[in-house]
Amino acid sequence: MSEDLERLNRRVSAARAETEGRGETFYPGASRIHLAAFPPRERWDDWVELDSRAWPKRKEKRYMLVPTTCFNCESACGLLAYVDRETLQVRKFEGNPEHPGSRGRNCAKGPATLNQITDPDRILQPLKRAGERGEGKWLQVSWDDALDDIAGRIRKAIGDGRENEVMYHVGRPGEDGYTERVLAAWGVDGHNSHTNICSSGGRAGYQYWMGLDRPSPDHANARVIFLISSHLEAGHYFNPHAQRVIEAKQNGAKLIVVDVRLSNTATHADHWLAPHPGSEAAMLLAIARHLVETGSHNREFVRRWWNWQEFLVRERADLEPTFEDFERAFLELYKEFTFEYAEAESGIPSATLREIAGLVASAGTRFSSHNWRSAAAGNLGGWQVSRCLFLLNALLGAVAVEGGVYPNAWNKFVPRPIHVPPHPKKWNRLTWPEQYPLAMNEMSFLLPQLMEDARAHLDVYFTRVYNPVWTNPNGFAWIELLTDPEKIGLHVALTPTWNESAYFADYVLPMGHGSERHDIHSYETHDAQWVGFRQPVLRAARERLGEKVADTREVNPGQVWEENEFWVELSWRIDPDGSMGIRQYFESRREPGTKLTVDEYYSFIFENSVPGLPERAAAEGLTPLQYMRRSGAFEVARKLGPLHEQEVPEAELEDTQTDALGRVFTRAPRPAGPNVVPLPTPPPDADGRRPVGVDLEGGVKRGFPTPSGRLEFYSSTLAEWGWPEYAVPAYIRSHVHPKNLEPGQMVLIPTFRLPTQIHTRSANAKWLDEIAHTNPLWIHPSDATRLGGLKTGDLVRVETEIGYFVVKAWVTEGIRPGVVACSHHMGRWKLHDNGQRQLMATVSLEHQERSWQIKRKKGVGPYASSDPDTGRIWWTDAGVHQNLTFPVHPDPISGQHCWHQAVRVTRAGPGDAYGDVWADAGRGEEVYRRWLDLTRSALRVSPDGNRRPYWLLRPLKPGLDSYRLTDQEVAGVAPAKPRRRR
Ligand code: SF4
Repeated sequence: MSEDLERLNRRVSAARAETEGRGETFYPGASRIHLAAFPPRERWDDWVELDSRAWPKRKEKRYMLVPTTCFNCESACGLLAYVDRETLQVRKFEGNPEHPGSRGRNCAKGPATLNQITDPDRILQPLKRAGERGEGKWLQVSWDDALDDIAGRIRKAIGDGRENEVMYHVGRPGEDGYTERVLAAWGVDGHNSHTNICSSGGRAGYQYWMGLDRPSPDHANARVIFLISSHLEAGHYFNPHAQRVIEAKQNGAKLIVVDVRLSNTATHADHWLAPHPGSEAAMLLAIARHLVETGSHNREFVRRWWNWQEFLVRERADLEPTFEDFERAFLELYKEFTFEYAEAESGIPSATLREIAGLVASAGTRFSSHNWRSAAAGNLGGWQVSRCLFLLNALLGAVAVEGGVYPNAWNKFVPRPIHVPPHPKKWNRLTWPEQYPLAMNEMSFLLPQLMEDARAHLDVYFTRVYNPVWTNPNGFAWIELLTDPEKIGLHVALTPTWNESAYFADYVLPMGHGSERHDIHSYETHDAQWVGFRQPVLRAARERLGEKVADTREVNPGQVWEENEFWVELSWRIDPDGSMGIRQYFESRREPGTKLTVDEYYSFIFENSVPGLPERAAAEGLTPLQYMRRSGAFEVARKLGPLHEQEVPEAELEDTQTDALGRVFTRAPRPAGPNVVPLPTPPPDADGRRPVGVDLEGGVKRGFPTPSGRLEFYSSTLAEWGWPEYAVPAYIRSHVHPKNLEPGQMVLIPTFRLPTQIHTRSANAKWLDEIAHTNPLWIHPSDATRLGGLKTGDLVRVETEIGYFVVKAWVTEGIRPGVVACSHHMGRWKLHDNGQRQLMATVSLEHQERSWQIKRKKGVGPYASSDPDTGRIWWTDAGVHQNLTFPVHPDPISGQHCWHQAVRVTRAGPGDAYGDVWADAGRGEEVYRRWLDLTRSALRVSPDGNRRPYWLLRPLKPGLDSYRLTDQEVAGVAPAKPRRRR
């Protein structure tokens, strides 16, 4: 036995003895969880269970347990596939105890992966459109034919200098960086995402504070937890966070939940606040003011780590540059934010807010908080909600300490892949238009409008696990876009299951579910860094039995492929002889001139880029790849602590210069390696120096990746890029603020998830469909009475700015009066009987000019298939699709679509039927123009001639040169491209 393994065993034995001494049991894997129910890893090759179906006979079933990762939400929890050794079929999925984030636990959607892979309606073959787009006629084609066709078009577009006509639009990425690498290799700035309909509002608030756009709350060790989201049922990093919130509660932590609905999370709260939607920042600023007024803030932390001096220099030159004067300035700045003012804005009594403020103050540095979608995704200015929430952490010093909130990069590990291509050279204005220079992510949901304005054409448009027709606001404008051959040359839908947008595609290519594909990922679930490995479990099982599998299609059902192999193959066909410079990034290093395999791709990463993994694998006599195929996850580090306090080593301090506010710049090259605090990414200045840290009382500390290196209470970026009034955390009145509502209007909250469904991929999960298959409108009894005595089940018509939908009422006290709510996880539809049949209603779709209507023809019902359970479907409902009736509401700063709607709710009329949806896409254009008027274009406000601050995060960042606004653009004469016909 090697020394390492002996040491590991000694540690495990000691930990086991300790926990068993307390009468607990202990799983020795990375989860360190006190559960005995997990099969020990050394028995995963041959695990025996009794066959429940054979009862009362005692019949043994033998399994190989193969780890993979759930693909059903962003949490990427570990799964263990139980592969029947006799049939080599997956029998069930359970949690993977080796996974440090999920620790052997899953929500209902994890085990339901089994439904997805055995769904009788799933897409099993590559399909090519045979009729008109949307007509529902398809031909089976070979992968070869599809690849050649798509590759030929991409090759021509790149060869013609039309790189920006190639776009990849992703919904659930479920991986870290693989596809960005592909696009960079092609030299295409074609990455588009769903983030601006999801989390850009949440992200922007964190970005301006920390230079990183996500928080990593250490819920498990907190004394007080403050959630502006529904973490215990569906929040970001749902299962990993939910279990840690509950752990903290068991240890006595207090839970504050802000939600206009009595969500499952709110039912677990010690304090549930249901304010007027959009008023959250006002409440938070009142609490912040109270902390400073009462001296409850962490003065030393604020003094050391805030950029308060920059604030004084820039905004209060009248004051002395002392910390005491800053505290005075802070109180002056927020003097109107009394508890009484916050009560007037939010409707929450001032006494309650005072009590909450006292509780927050009592947490000290053990204060964890999180705001992700929720208010940040619902309101104009919602990004200030997460900024004001983090203000409380920053005041308490609850940043990167036990029980506090870490910057996500402290708790996430992204290894360097084999072959790193350079940045694309051309900027794509269809995704990053100059009107939104500070947008956190691509202005994805505006693609129909931006393409119309630019008279643009996309020659190849990939949608990948993305369903814009159903998910985005003004989905009818998306149907118009996807059916217009002048705008979309070829739409390729990469999807594991049918969806509303795939019906309008030219190719539908079947991609694998979570147990049918490779990916790696790492998420900030707690104060640790880990890497998770998703893999095709039947491939791994066969390889354990000594078989060779060269291509995932050999083990997946039908012709289902995985994307990793698909992109390598497509890239080779784009550049078959390597003359375009693309192929080199998809070639083997072991055998030059041959294709890179997934084995080599991941072997390289695990052998070279994940510290500790090679040693750990060797201790078990495995290669790093074998180890990951056996364990599914690896914990790189635990308890990272306050990395911003790290001293910068001498080797990195070469010929330094320090500016007046303490930012230190170096000429030393950027070091490679793990656990290095990310730094902002401006290119070296004219003297060749880059920021490296902060001069803090004589030493150079790593600091934060912001322009100042400190936590930025004051954002010079916002001040210089046209928004000086929001340079500090502020309260922006929402578009659904009472003053902006017309008499009789209510606020619709359309953003909440159902815990047992996924946006667009779970309609083929029969267990989930049985649990959740409808989305009634939550309405308070007082409103129900006012609207003529509505009762649960009555039909109501909900009118938005551009249309209406007809839905059932659910009268409940679990919602704030004046507000209604409807989950966006329902209302799936199809135009033809074929396709998905378990949770998609069949509808008619008609339009006159831009006025569109959907009427339900048939609900869900039993049907015969290879799965006998489909004959037992007892539900008929599939919910109502509300997003079609929403206009786009792009926040002028974060770019987030502001989901909340001012609506009129009435009892349905005689002509109305359940599931009716009507909207005028043309009216949607008018609303878009109104919101566009709120923007401050880079053409007007850019302080440096760039279209965007270079330091702000951007997936697939193009080269610095492409950031420059061209003279033509500045002069406002950028030529519109002529449209072309296919
Ligand atoms: S929270 Fe549920 S759906 Fe999300 S990854 Fe974990 S098991 Fe899957």
